[in-house]
Amino acid sequence: MNQRMYGLGSRRSVIREIFEFGKKRAQEVGAENVYDFSLGNPSVDPPQIVTDTLEQLLREEDPTALHGYTSAQGDASVRAAIADYIRKTHGVAADADYIYMTCGAAASLTITLSALCVPGDEVITFAPYFTEYKVFTETAGATLVALDSDPDTFQIDLKALEGAINEKTAAVLVNSPNNPSGVVYREETVARLAAILNEKSAQFGKTIYLITDEPYRELVYGGVKVPYLTKYYPHTVVCYSYSKSLSLPGERIGYIFVNPAADHAKELYLAVCGAGRALGYVCAPSIFQKMIARCQGVTSDVSVYERNRDVLAGALREYGFRCVQPDGAFYLFVKSPEADAYAFCERAKAFDLLLVPGDDFGCKGYVRIAYCVSPAMIGRSLPSFRKLAEEYSLCK
Ligand code: PLP
Repeated sequence: MNQRMYGLGSRRSVIREIFEFGKKRAQEVGAENVYDFSLGNPSVDPPQIVTDTLEQLLREEDPTALHGYTSAQGDASVRAAIADYIRKTHGVAADADYIYMTCGAAASLTITLSALCVPGDEVITFAPYFTEYKVFTETAGATLVALDSDPDTFQIDLKALEGAINEKTAAVLVNSPNNPSGVVYREETVARLAAILNEKSAQFGKTIYLITDEPYRELVYGGVKVPYLTKYYPHTVVCYSYSKSLSLPGERIGYIFVNPAADHAKELYLAVCGAGRALGYVCAPSIFQKMIARCQGVTSDVSVYERNRDVLAGALREYGFRCVQPDGAFYLFVKSPEADAYAFCERAKAFDLLLVPGDDFGCKGYVRIAYCVSPAMIGRSLPSFRKLAEEYSLCK
């Protein structure tokens, strides 16, 4: 058998290990006494219009068409609705013929990377980064090159990027709002990123594409704006997902948008269709395609996450922990009070606090706290965080 696949299948991710531990521990001490901050599973219900639309589709549509195959790249009217939304919201000339419906951001990324890369290529990303980027990139035959971010802000280190791009660079992969840091890339960072990609594309005589992974685009707080990267750099591929914005991670629905103004856009879109075909990612779930077409611009109630962020980040700082203020997503990336984040997570476990070491996100010495949990759980967990801080004499 394929030993690489065997390796991927037989080693569970650290996040999954912690989640499984939490379930076992809940049986021993009661679910309300375990503070599981491991998984990025939305805790807010999908908006009512999602349920209403699904019911309406089931009631009113012809079942054979509703549950049947769509075009491989997705239903034409669904793609048209998305293109229309992108045009109106972001002012980019989107076109249904450059949109490919997928089973969430994971599929969007695997397809895009396979469409863009050939063996020997490099894809640059910035630590901390979503753990699966390495797996997806290597599956496409390329190598993931992870650059450190500015440790004070977790914004992209643009100097490091300039030095790292070379003739093997096929694409730069960014994620903002970021999992796990919660940071949103500022407009000046994005503008500078675009300028560097233009300069380097000219220097190496090829187009370096920008892949933007956007499952958290709408999860931002305090009026923060997430720049639409396609507007700053035309050679951009958007990998979008409704998993977090509509609280539908189990339903597997998202899309890829290739900018029609990108270099070789038509060929790239056809390569996306080819990669979707090769990977077996054709005809994303039909009923969810049709639902999202009628729910463009709708978002779950993110005020719950914002309150969680404020309460938790505020309390942790008061206890002496350090973290960059997250403007989006639903994660806090907290500096571990000891160099070994695994050891810190083990000590947190003694207080039934389940945190994820930053090592898997390419960033040692930090832990990720997913605060997409109930506000009540945040409240119950605070005394344990305080005791943990006391263990390290952090409290003033
Ligand atoms: N990219 C990032 C940054 C994520 O955090 C996740 C999921 O947590 C994904 C991609 C995968 O998203 P999806 O569930 O839509 O496949």
